[in-house]
Amino acid sequence: ASGYSLLRDPQYNKGLAFTERERDAHYLRGLLPPATATQQLQEKKLMHNIRQYQVPLQKYMALTELQERNERLFYKLLIDNVEELLPIVYTPTVGEACQKYGSIFRRPQGLYISLKEKGRILEVLKNWPEKSIQVIVVTDGERILGLGDLGCQGMGIPVGKLALYTALGGVRPSACLPVTIDVGTNNEQLLKDEFYIGLRQKRATGKEYAELLNEFMSAVKQNYGEKVLVQFEDFANHNAFELLAKYGTTHLVFNDDIQGTAAVVLAGVVAALKLIGGTLSDHKFLFLGAGEAGTGIAELIALEISKKTNVPVEETRKKIWLVDSKGLIVSSRKDPLQNFKKPWAHEHEPVKDLLDAVKALKPTVLIGSSGVGRTFTKEVIEALSSFNEKPLIMALSNPTSQSECTAEEAYTWSKGRAIFASGSPFDPVEYDGKVFVPGQSNNAYIFPGFGLGLVISGAIRVHDDMLLAASEALAGQVSQENFDKGLIYPPFSNIRKISAQIAANVAAKAYELGVATRIPRPENLVKYAESCMYSPLYRNYR
Ligand code: NAP
Ligand code: MN
Repeated sequence: ASGYSLLRDPQYNKGLAFTERERDAHYLRGLLPPATATQQLQEKKLMHNIRQYQVPLQKYMALTELQERNERLFYKLLIDNVEELLPIVYTPTVGEACQKYGSIFRRPQGLYISLKEKGRILEVLKNWPEKSIQVIVVTDGERILGLGDLGCQGMGIPVGKLALYTALGGVRPSACLPVTIDVGTNNEQLLKDEFYIGLRQKRATGKEYAELLNEFMSAVKQNYGEKVLVQFEDFANHNAFELLAKYGTTHLVFNDDIQGTAAVVLAGVVAALKLIGGTLSDHKFLFLGAGEAGTGIAELIALEISKKTNVPVEETRKKIWLVDSKGLIVSSRKDPLQNFKKPWAHEHEPVKDLLDAVKALKPTVLIGSSGVGRTFTKEVIEALSSFNEKPLIMALSNPTSQSECTAEEAYTWSKGRAIFASGSPFDPVEYDGKVFVPGQSNNAYIFPGFGLGLVISGAIRVHDDMLLAASEALAGQVSQENFDKGLIYPPFSNIRKISAQIAANVAAKAYELGVATRIPRPENLVKYAESCMYSPLYRNYR
């Protein structure tokens, strides 16, 4: 290859970091200015540049451009500055990027599979330059964060999630494949937008939708084998639960909104017991939002209580209540309930909204998973605080604009007594002379390590016990120092170490359950996980 093409290949390009010898050996003389730079110096320069931008979306674009120019440097930045850059490549900024994807779109990232490719999906997969894929994140763009249907512009999500698979979980970038399945969009604004990059039609549903997904899932297994992980991301709940159930028995699939969220929230709740007291089964849980996240979390909490107490899950579910857009879910409700809500329809008189539900049920833990912002009102938080010394409040909805309440609201309205965590990050809050540091309850803690655990063990199926294993590993990483600050999650700055712990626990469970294919089992799984993790340091080219 010519030196010129080397400079334009993001996998190999090092910019000024090419050494004198490399410049001679690879025909780079004259194509670079005379100075050489270390990766550290390049990192310093780029962080300086990125910090100059005031607008988060500009930072996002600068990072995307870096990813397309020099992949290792991109990951070096992300790994070394994870707390600063996570809100850019991930929630909340990635949400804005998806909303404006059509106009900021430069080079395509990931693979687009639309209805036009029906019957040819295997061919499309073969167009992708990498042959050995370990993790696919796929969306159909129908429920992007709490922002609704963004159609083909949802691509920002698989791209962002996979960047985290590499940066936080250490999966090689070349083994990651972002996919957007475009079956149209029902977003009128996008359909009218002249810059829209997707199919300009209403969403296909029913048989047409199912067939395209089925072709995709078959092609994926045919092309990459049965150890490839397919992570479903940001599908609407009317498809998400069915897809997970349908392909869970034949493929290695994982739905991050249902399962990853469940594991991260369970970990936070278990860790929070140190601060709020009691065991898991002593608590009463109330959710606002009974969709993928809400019912997914509820089910995993019920399962964990069941395992710990030997009480059947049908019983342990009774400690958990959910409110949806029609009020508290109760057995006497007239309208037919979607299948995923049925286990939560307990005996109770009808309750019309969250505030009344809080007053009637007196929960100790309040979890927001509705996708609707500002729904944990002053009245709700005051009521919750009136019968809880330390109420646990988790406002999970993303991005920041959809958060059920802000950190400041949670601390102020509870008079500094709430233990609070949110899906999107909030800055520390000062209340009554004390500084409160809110934790981030985000599935980014779980999915990278979870995926790494599946990959390193060669797992061929996902099992709920692996979610519990991941959750337990995360909860175990919260230190006394974190607790002292009121935190129920460890800081993201340690995420690679945390991911290795999660991966090891998940892999151990895969071996135990007999679904691991990497034989023999490595003795020390934590060390093994660490040794498998991608390093962004430059290589020497001879
Ligand atoms: P979903 O499946 O669409 O569920 C949304 C639920 O909220 C539904 O049950 C819906 O009620 C209910 N709801 C909507 N508006 C409401 C209102 N005004 N009052 C009461 N309930 C209302 O969505 P999801 O996948 O669960 O995601 C929900 C949110 O969680 C999104 O913002 C997403 O970004 C966030 N999330 C966060 C994380 C994290 O790691 N922090 C992970 C996953 C998801 P109906 O059923 O009656 O329509
Ligand atoms: Mn999601």
